[in-house]
Amino acid sequence: MEEKPTIDSLIKKVKEYDPQTDLEMIRLAYDFAAEAHKGQIRKSGEPYIIHPLATAHILADMRIDPLIVITALLHDVPEDTTVTLEEIEKNFGSEIASMVRGITKLGKLKYRGVERYIENLRKMFVAMAEDIRVMIIKFADRIHNLQTLDSLPPQKQYRIALESLEIYAPIANRLGMSEFKGQLEDLSFQYIYPKEYERTKKIRDEKLKGKETYLKSIQQIAEQELKEANIQIISIDGRNKKLYSIYQKLLRKENDAAQIYDLAAIRIVVPTIADCYAVLGILHKIWKPLKGRIKDYISQPKPNGYQSLHTTIFSDSGETIEFQIRTPEMHDDAEYGIAAHWHYDEQGSRLPSKDVRWTKELAIIQKEILNRLSDLDEIKIDFLQSRIFVFTPKGDVVDLPENATPVDFAYHIHTEVGNKCNGAKINDQMVSLDTELKNGDVVDIIIDKTRKGPSQDWLKFVKTHTAKNHIENYLKNQQQSKITDWFKYVLPKK
Ligand code: MN
Repeated sequence: MEEKPTIDSLIKKVKEYDPQTDLEMIRLAYDFAAEAHKGQIRKSGEPYIIHPLATAHILADMRIDPLIVITALLHDVPEDTTVTLEEIEKNFGSEIASMVRGITKLGKLKYRGVERYIENLRKMFVAMAEDIRVMIIKFADRIHNLQTLDSLPPQKQYRIALESLEIYAPIANRLGMSEFKGQLEDLSFQYIYPKEYERTKKIRDEKLKGKETYLKSIQQIAEQELKEANIQIISIDGRNKKLYSIYQKLLRKENDAAQIYDLAAIRIVVPTIADCYAVLGILHKIWKPLKGRIKDYISQPKPNGYQSLHTTIFSDSGETIEFQIRTPEMHDDAEYGIAAHWHYDEQGSRLPSKDVRWTKELAIIQKEILNRLSDLDEIKIDFLQSRIFVFTPKGDVVDLPENATPVDFAYHIHTEVGNKCNGAKINDQMVSLDTELKNGDVVDIIIDKTRKGPSQDWLKFVKTHTAKNHIENYLKNQQQSKITDWFKYVLPKK
């Protein structure tokens, strides 16, 4: 990114990938946010508006949907200023307002004990399930905060960096957003493990010393051979492995730097899958491949969906170098993951922001993250119950423990909805009230206003404390009022 991000350079950036978009709207959003944040100063001493502006730039660098860029400009307005969400909605419409609402719901990082923390984490997953774009903005927001972490007190630096490394980066990874994941990791790394950071940097620099010229020559030879074979090269460039990945690998390889082969890689993007395999064949004809280092992630993608061909070859001087070969679609997916669906030159194929498919993935990620946190003794085990995400007919997300039933859902919505609950539909099918809900179910509660209250039998199958407490309280009150009725009956009237 350029030294000082400005609104003009932002508009120029967006115009390059989406000339049709309403560029005036981006300027309006900037003016609106700048006015709202007027007089506010960041810890670094800069005017506050620098932060949302930089966040928008990070997203525009991904060539992302301008609607998301606009939302990024507005993302801190309701939380930090007197301007309300209603005013944002009036000026920028309901879609942008709803994303800003999602970010505001996530809240600022305020650490107030483990339980509150887990609660915030849960909120984050619900907000993600509601609209994954909110999380994409949150990542960019966090990246800029990490870039400017130096102006905060050390304790705060550590906490923000640790959260980024332990929670945000793994989520970005699971969503396939390796570009964001890499940035989150490397920016946090130096604050969490400063000594290891310096050491890893030294190892990398030493291994890379003098490599640049021969990397260039390898790249030129490859380019020449591919041209002769009539393979169109969309791009070919060298790429250094990120520091935190090197560190992780050193840990796995017992600190043996000699075992790290992919410190520098050459990435080749070609039009089709057939081209990818052709390139692999040509490279192996020029150089000898290293045994066991040929990886076909095209026919067998990684769990997060990553696709590419990898091979490590011996150069003539005996050095090793990795090649990564992929199509443009694989490249976008690898860099941007889920965000690629709002990325330009995807021929406008956009996914709905609420997509049941993500909820399954999100439930797995949530479980993983909570399991990691369970290493901290302070965290009580009942927080770690597996959770599922289900939807109201309007599309709002509710998270519940696994095996929860429509009655749990009803009490989660409102006590009265629980008490008057008389039946339920799951995905438009009538079901019995003890049916176990599954991830992504759309649940519609049928209410009978004349119903007196919950049934004792429900206690046999409800899973949440909320539902159980409400039912028990209601039944207890019932008994009490029966007693009062009885007293009224037996005691002589005055
Ligand atoms: Mn922010």
